[in-house]
Amino acid sequence: MPSSVLTPESVLKQYFGYDTYRPMQQEIIYELLQGKDVLVLMPTGGGKSICYQVPAMVMPGITIVVSPLIALMKDQVESLLSNGIPAAYLNSSQSGQQQSDIENECLQGVIKLLYISPEKLLSQGFQALLKKLPIDLFAIDEAHCISGWGHDFRPEYTQLNLLKQNFPGIPVVALTATADKLIRQDIVEQLGLQAAKVFVSSFDRKNLSLTVLPGRNKLTQVMDFLDAHKGQAGIIYCLSRSNTEQVAEKLTGSGYKAGYYHAGMSSRDRSKVQEAFLKDDIQVICATIAFGMGIDKSNVRWVIHFNLPKNMESYYQEIGRAGRDGLPAATVLFYSFRDVIAWREILNSKPEDEKRVELQMARLERMQQYAEAYLCRRRILLNYFSEQLTQDCQNCDICKNPRSRFDGTILAQKALSAVIRLQESVTMGMLIDVLRGSRSAQIVEKGYDKIKTYGAGADLKTNEWRDYLQQMVNTGILEVAYHQKYALHRGVLSQRILNGSQQVWLVKSEPIGIPKQNEVIS
Ligand code: ADP
Ligand code: ZN
Repeated sequence: MPSSVLTPESVLKQYFGYDTYRPMQQEIIYELLQGKDVLVLMPTGGGKSICYQVPAMVMPGITIVVSPLIALMKDQVESLLSNGIPAAYLNSSQSGQQQSDIENECLQGVIKLLYISPEKLLSQGFQALLKKLPIDLFAIDEAHCISGWGHDFRPEYTQLNLLKQNFPGIPVVALTATADKLIRQDIVEQLGLQAAKVFVSSFDRKNLSLTVLPGRNKLTQVMDFLDAHKGQAGIIYCLSRSNTEQVAEKLTGSGYKAGYYHAGMSSRDRSKVQEAFLKDDIQVICATIAFGMGIDKSNVRWVIHFNLPKNMESYYQEIGRAGRDGLPAATVLFYSFRDVIAWREILNSKPEDEKRVELQMARLERMQQYAEAYLCRRRILLNYFSEQLTQDCQNCDICKNPRSRFDGTILAQKALSAVIRLQESVTMGMLIDVLRGSRSAQIVEKGYDKIKTYGAGADLKTNEWRDYLQQMVNTGILEVAYHQKYALHRGVLSQRILNGSQQVWLVKSEPIGIPKQNEVIS
């Protein structure tokens, strides 16, 4: 069929087999066909590709798609070809001959969509070729890579401002699943987008329940969870490669069907595990974040974070691997402050410039705040992606189980008084032992049993104290001195607590609970 009679609707139906658009797709396509620049923010799986693939088919010339992920490029092109859409890709994995064949096809007007890596696009040879092509549209996929604020910065992306300079009249669509305001601004500025309309589709995945649990006996907690979710497949994200192996081994040892997956394995081993998971031969995959990219399993029923993710983007992306079929799915994050410390050490040990480390620390802090929050989690999560809910979600642990508060002033005073008498030299664990009146050898040896507040908190369990002290740390009553072996110090509010001029409200510590089934309230 000659392209002149193709409409967006006929392309959608004929080439993609869809009768209707998803939210925003039609408006985006309309803008692009008018020759306007557009910024698209949609969650992974939201349907970004259609937004430039349909215009590419409707317009007479060629659409250039910049993509940083060589593996995904190949998949996309193969799926387009199988739909009868003439597409190709160019990147460094191809031989010189292959590349020049494709360039010729472009010149002959055979190709409608050309996927290309930024390096290749920016090369001088290719820039010269571009000038000879009838370009209709540039699509910049994973556009957040352009921003130093982002979690996935690619220096070569910053040179994409060349496109607007060299091809001022050609529309550019930038697409990303990261919607942070700073990054958004950066994309528009750096690409030089002109009066670009910004489309933000909802990031709300209502079918995912959100739960955060204190990580105490995580393996037991996981096994309880698995028993409550028999026959349902899921992913446990762990911090390190060795972690994935340990957790998988423990689970296997207890009779669960589990495997592990990380980037240190041979590609053969990795695809074996992946295959087994896809075919439901194993129920559980213990994985590092390496697992997930391009995995298309729609019935993942749950995702557990064994450790705290390093930022909200990663968290959102990883929980997003659950419930892609739209049916209820559970997500559980085990939180312990130890993970924050571990991440700080990892981030600090990287040879990166100070500003980037600071940024990553700030992102980590947002993640920590989410995990420690006592507000509807979905509100916090979506707010992070610049989307505000008008009501609490009723599908997170906080909504299902509003926490009661109590006057914890006396507890805070006891803790502070002990911290001071111990000369701000002990860790949280030791402080709890002192407060609870433990008779450990170390306490007796150091004479801690002689201080006035020794045993003053014996009525609370260790876990309760840990919860409350953590809350005190988070609110500035206490402070952790990271550079002094994590000793507890007085925090900025301590004076006002000690002299009684400020009350302390604490959220009641609760026993470890596991959501028993996937419930969703829509
Ligand atoms: P993204 O790039 O945003 O992660 P994709 O473009 O890969 O998402 O789309 C995700 C899935 O949604 C794909 O399987 C795609 O075919 C499907 N999809 C996209 N648009 C529509 C539509 N209008 N109707 C039905 N399915 C759609
Ligand atoms: Zn909620």
